[in-house]
Amino acid sequence: MSHDRNVETARIETERDQSNPPQQLLDISDLSVTFPSQEGPVEAVTDVSLSIEPGETVGLVGESGSGKSVTAATILGLLEESARIDGSVEFDDQQLLTKTDDELREIRGDRISMIFQETGSSLNPVLTVGDQISETIRTHRSIPNEGISRLETSVLGNLLRSKSHPTNYERSWEQTVELFERVGIPAPEQRALEYPHEYSGGMKQRAMIAMAISCRPDLLIADEPTTALDVTIEAQILDLIDEVQAEFDTAVLFITHDMGVVNEICDRVAVMYAGRVVERAPTDELFAHPKHPYTQALLDSIPSLEGGQTLDPLAGQVPDPTDKPPGCPFGPRCPSATACCDARFPPEYPVTTADEPLPVREGGDDDVPSPRRNDPTGHAVHCVLYGSGDGLAPRRSPSDEDRQNADRGRPETDGGEP
Ligand code: SF4
Repeated sequence: MSHDRNVETARIETERDQSNPPQQLLDISDLSVTFPSQEGPVEAVTDVSLSIEPGETVGLVGESGSGKSVTAATILGLLEESARIDGSVEFDDQQLLTKTDDELREIRGDRISMIFQETGSSLNPVLTVGDQISETIRTHRSIPNEGISRLETSVLGNLLRSKSHPTNYERSWEQTVELFERVGIPAPEQRALEYPHEYSGGMKQRAMIAMAISCRPDLLIADEPTTALDVTIEAQILDLIDEVQAEFDTAVLFITHDMGVVNEICDRVAVMYAGRVVERAPTDELFAHPKHPYTQALLDSIPSLEGGQTLDPLAGQVPDPTDKPPGCPFGPRCPSATACCDARFPPEYPVTTADEPLPVREGGDDDVPSPRRNDPTGHAVHCVLYGSGDGLAPRRSPSDEDRQNADRGRPETDGGEP
């Protein structure tokens, strides 16, 4: 861990001690993930801090390659062993990064569940969908496998179900059928007997949600759960997640690149770019007063149903993790970039209200009046446009002038003066 990171960690902990922050279910601090490669270490996630309270929905937003899924995989302990992980991931005051595989397996699917984007590889093709979910229920709920072997549950499952056999298997099967009804799978008793290849994409996603909520998790991580679905099914799935959350007070980490979905279901948002969180805010505040040029570009790319507004897609791509630009990684795509943006990644600046001037900084980073990282009302941004006194750039109001001057077709290599 670097000296800078130690200093920052000490600052965060001091602030926690002094301010008695609200209870957090998930508290990620200064998480960095590095993978080995032939070209040398590749940092996929850098200094990510994020927290979620019980019952809260937090959106983790960004394009593909921004580090969202790596962050989720780190929480669940699903990264390959060669990955180097620095920082802290606390769940209900337990440090997940030091847990053994067995300990993590106990937590996964019980207290933390995940809905994956790609359902095809998430369901076992040789077991019926109902068997897979009922097994999850028996494993993680207080329904022991009394006298029912894996062979019986998989091969003889249909036979057992055809008889009056009031076992724990039967009870878990009843709960499975109830879950199928709950997630809107038609003819649930019949569909539970079918195999994954007999399901449509929407049905598979519903089945995955049934499995994810079968143990009433405290935290549900949904990784692009509606990306492959049409808008009607997407709306139904979002409603379903909302209902489950309300009923069980489940916290949700919703990973997506779709700002429209974020606006619909999230309480707070963290915007990621090139492995870093570049802006975070309550959802209403972020949509009303986006500060980071990347956030503004994401919002500009939301299709409008009202007509009259054109889609303004963001040009360029997230940089290759093996070849990130110096300084602010958004620089090559940023319409407001200046030469000073190349100097270093900007520190985090607080955003007070949309029109209120930022406090003028006197010296170095220690003078930044940053909001507490765990403050759910905090709006903060990593961009030199909002800094002052750090030798990078004068503080200035970026919104109108920068938007007017925005030239999305600017050559990607242009990191010079505006
Ligand atoms: S730091 Fe510079 S390049 Fe990065 S988002 Fe802000 S203005 Fe754009």
